[in-house]
Amino acid sequence: MCEVLCPKCHETVEACGELNVDGQMLGVYQCGRCLVPWDFDGERFEVALTFALDADGVALDPADLRPLA
Ligand SMILES: [Zn+2]
Repeated sequence: MCEVLCPKCHETVEACGELNVDGQMLGVYQCGRCLVPWDFDGERFEVALTFALDADGVALDPADLRPLA
């Protein structure tokens, strides 16, 4: 199994789950170093950056499956 690097800080990240997209299992990874803002119910939280990797190695947002900026 190859190493996966965070798209933001380029440190090695840990797999934290899998996501089934159209019958294809994508690995889901979480970076313990990068925090991203998350608005919920009018409050702002900082959550660990989580992303899925597609077959081409592109980091996707697990919520809407669009590439991370
Ligand atoms: Zn990171």
